[in-house]
Amino acid sequence: MGDFSSSRRVLLHNIGWSLAGLGALLPDIAGAQMAKVLDEGEPQAKAVGYRTVASKVDGVKYPTYKPGQSCTTCKLLALGSARMRPCSLFANRLVNPAGWCNAWVQRGT
Ligand code: SF4
Repeated sequence: MGDFSSSRRVLLHNIGWSLAGLGALLPDIAGAQMAKVLDEGEPQAKAVGYRTVASKVDGVKYPTYKPGQSCTTCKLLALGSARMRPCSLFANRLVNPAGWCNAWVQRGT
């Protein structure tokens, strides 16, 4: 059993690691809160045929689209359960998990 100062050192060590972890997490949280929802009409969205609802994708214009594909199954969508989520293709933007764009990449199983 350790003495009081040893216990205090362990406690301070653990608090330090907790604060370091929190510090690493805060930019992600702040970034997600500052991001805006991507609009289909924005040039960057139009460039890749982004639609907020995958079933509305023009299959003639985007023949790589297959029914059932959506941002939810795309590797570039951030994990989570938020209604709108970050996509690594669009900086400071949130996309609809029900959407789709021509940059879709199958998420690993
Ligand atoms: S890259 Fe993937 S997650 Fe991002 S908008 Fe396109 S389909 Fe959705």
